[in-house]
Amino acid sequence: MKRRELVKGLAALPLAGGLIGSGLSVFAADKPAAKSKSLEPTEPKRDFFKELGVTPVINAAATMTFLSGSLMLPEVMDAINSTSHHFANMYELQDKVGAKIAEMLHVEAAMVTSGAACALLLGTAACITGTDKEKIKTIPNLPGERKEVIIQKSHRYLFDQAITTTGAKLIEVTGKAEMDAAFNSNTVMALFYNAGDVSSDPISHEDFIAIAKKHNVPSFIDAAADVPPVENLFKFQKLGFDLVTFSGGKMIRGPQSAGLLFGRKDLIEAAKLNHSPNEAPIGRPMKVNKEEMFGMYAALKAYLERDHKKEWQDWLDRAAHMSKIFETVASVKAVTTISKGPANAFPGISVTWDETKVKVSPPQVIKALKDGTPSIVVNGNNKGLNVGIVLLRPEEVDLVANRIKEELKKAV
Ligand SMILES: *Cc1c(COP(=O)(O)O)cnc(C)c1O
Repeated sequence: MKRRELVKGLAALPLAGGLIGSGLSVFAADKPAAKSKSLEPTEPKRDFFKELGVTPVINAAATMTFLSGSLMLPEVMDAINSTSHHFANMYELQDKVGAKIAEMLHVEAAMVTSGAACALLLGTAACITGTDKEKIKTIPNLPGERKEVIIQKSHRYLFDQAITTTGAKLIEVTGKAEMDAAFNSNTVMALFYNAGDVSSDPISHEDFIAIAKKHNVPSFIDAAADVPPVENLFKFQKLGFDLVTFSGGKMIRGPQSAGLLFGRKDLIEAAKLNHSPNEAPIGRPMKVNKEEMFGMYAALKAYLERDHKKEWQDWLDRAAHMSKIFETVASVKAVTTISKGPANAFPGISVTWDETKVKVSPPQVIKALKDGTPSIVVNGNNKGLNVGIVLLRPEEVDLVANRIKEELKKAV
């Protein structure tokens, strides 16, 4: 902008002239100019979805990252909006938010990361570098042999790339004896995936911690998607894991790009040194902004204070209500399912029908719902639909139930 235009622009702002020395918040100028006549019809709200041609989606599925995770709570939006007008020292903010979160979760220390995937990377980096400045500057290209992270073979998963991004390699083990034998001078950490496969000789949480402790190596648990139940936010540090991560943007309903890393104080300090706002380290490209830090704190506080029993009952009532609507169509069966977890452990509805009576396949219904207006995303397979209910806003419940019923009824 040219200076002349800038000055002109300033003059056009209603309060700009009287600002200096007035003690008035400069942020008054951030507010849209008030309409002069209160009787004037308010302008329709700007529709960004429309402006960009992006399809708004109703999520009757799950907290999937490609579907933008979850909807932020009003408390989170308040935190974001009310803190957006002032600068803050990001070191101070991370320290203070972390201290508060640590207090709330009964743990030594905590920090806000850009999602649980970032927490996996920072936690691993912390175990590799400690507070050594030279190592922090050099990772992932440290001289010498590669560092090693022990993981159960059945716990290998897509997100473990966040661990190897640090330059560490994964050492797969099956059973306690193999785990015990896998430690050597290059071992920096042991990673437990809480929702990992338990089919082949699983090591219990307690044994896993004990073996890592015996070798004086930190243990880290990824429980990213494992609330509800709310108790899980306290469980793993109590068991003795040195580091724990949860996603901020799943059922905690914080910013999608925020997450929690908490546990041992020395490791959290080292993780912070590997993160933004420090300029060099491996975590610098995984910045968390100021508003998201406040937002993550607000989300966690709201989540902990919620009446979880009531919320659970509301979900069951919602499932029963929607099921009744589905079952008005001949041969349709709707059953409330509760995933046994540990990830995504909440109610949903399994919907099946007799395809000789309702002549449409579940994938066809899924496609019709997705392509309809509004677009509704539902999971399922060839056998039926899995209708997710916990992410629906109250006003979407009947809409989704009736759209599904409509698609089934059409095929009778
Ligand atoms: C979702 C998820 C992650 C990644 O979490 P983000 O917060 O999206 O970065 C990592 N691990 C597990 C088990 C998850 O479910």
